[in-house]
Amino acid sequence: MNNFGVGAAREVDVVVIGAGQAGLSGAYHLRRTGLEPDRDFVVLDHAPRPGGAWQFRWPSLTYGKVHGMHALPGMELAGADDARPSSEVIGEYFAEYERTFGLRVHRPVEVSAVREGDGGRLLVESSEGTYATRALINATGTWDRPFWPRYPGQEGFRGRQLHTANYPGPAEFAGQRVVVVGGGASATQHLMEIAEVAAETYWVTRRPPVFRDGPFDEELGRAAVAMVEERVRRGLPPRSVVSVTGLPLTDAVRRARETGVLDRLPMFDRITPNGVAWDGGRTVEADVILWATGFRAAIDHLAPLKLREPGGGIRVEGTRAVRDARIHLVGYGPSASTIGANRAGRAAVREIGRLLKGADTAAGDADEVFAPAVV
Ligand SMILES: Cc1cc2nc3c(=O)[nH]c(=O)nc-3n(C[C@H](O)[C@H](O)[C@H](O)COP(=O)(O)OP(=O)(O)OC[C@H]3O[C@@H](n4cnc5c(N)ncnc54)[C@H](O)[C@@H]3O)c2cc1C
Repeated sequence: MNNFGVGAAREVDVVVIGAGQAGLSGAYHLRRTGLEPDRDFVVLDHAPRPGGAWQFRWPSLTYGKVHGMHALPGMELAGADDARPSSEVIGEYFAEYERTFGLRVHRPVEVSAVREGDGGRLLVESSEGTYATRALINATGTWDRPFWPRYPGQEGFRGRQLHTANYPGPAEFAGQRVVVVGGGASATQHLMEIAEVAAETYWVTRRPPVFRDGPFDEELGRAAVAMVEERVRRGLPPRSVVSVTGLPLTDAVRRARETGVLDRLPMFDRITPNGVAWDGGRTVEADVILWATGFRAAIDHLAPLKLREPGGGIRVEGTRAVRDARIHLVGYGPSASTIGANRAGRAAVREIGRLLKGADTAAGDADEVFAPAVV
């Protein structure tokens, strides 16, 4: 269906897909350059509410447990209660941000495909119609693409299998035997919570986990981003920034290691109807397998543009797709963190400014013409 008239596509300069940290940063910087939402650019998001992926994160992930959440550009997140769920705190903050800067996010609007159009424009097919745009900021994150590894016997498991993307908090696992799979921060957070109420917990990872003692300083951050950047430049699928920074040794993690909650087993070889098994003969009975195995970039809608390299990733220089200068991927690979997403939004808009005007327009040049819609 097309809401803009039969066969018509609505022309805009820029479409932003996704209103998480990355998309909102992009939209903010577009406004700063003097572009008007709904006239010059649109922001489309298929989630029901403001908050990006944060709105779906489990209630026990309180704001106090989120480490290093960076505020969106131009508005601090001040005075938040550490005990409240981050989904609420960040959802409200994003809602206020959208209002303050008049970003007019269209939701829920699903983007199903982006194709080549006429006159050098891209056609963005969405549930509210087709947009013909001169440039695209893709900020669709990873939350919609949970990664489930496959193991022999998986279909025959009689217990419950779920992914971090559907983790409901620990209460449902009271008295149960739970196997948590995965070597990242989500896995350790799940384990520490579930161990409080479960009968037994087991932690299974492919590689021995690496714990990081000491602060996550700028140098470490830069090194981690550089590693992910290098993969993306070679056209490989990005690994998450967190996956290369190691697991922070917080006080809670230290305690969990002392009490054995974070004693790790190597990856099992198969799944049995009643649990998991290793080739050496070891078995563990389980009621639940929780896959904390991460996410992949949610970019299937870009498939018609054939941007992927043989290695499976999209090569980007900065945020620009190497195969198509009209397309910027923000929150992708090296910019998949709240601070990275902020910077990527700004960098993408700077380049899009040049593309649209054919001039050396930089985000920030138009500071003086920019004013929040509501203060
Ligand atoms: C459990 C967890 C904890 C984290 N903790 C931290 C932390 O402490 N500090 C930190 O810096 N980073 C953290 N991160 C990473 C951080 O959340 C993200 O990198 C950052 O928020 C960037 O978000 P984004 O805008 O790229 O994606 P998202 O927030 O996922 O936003 C993407 C948006 O795109 C929309 N969308 C997707 N596909 C479509 C489509 N086809 N059509 C329309 N809309 C679409 C979605 O609805 C969503 O709103 C964490 C990540 C996870 C999973």
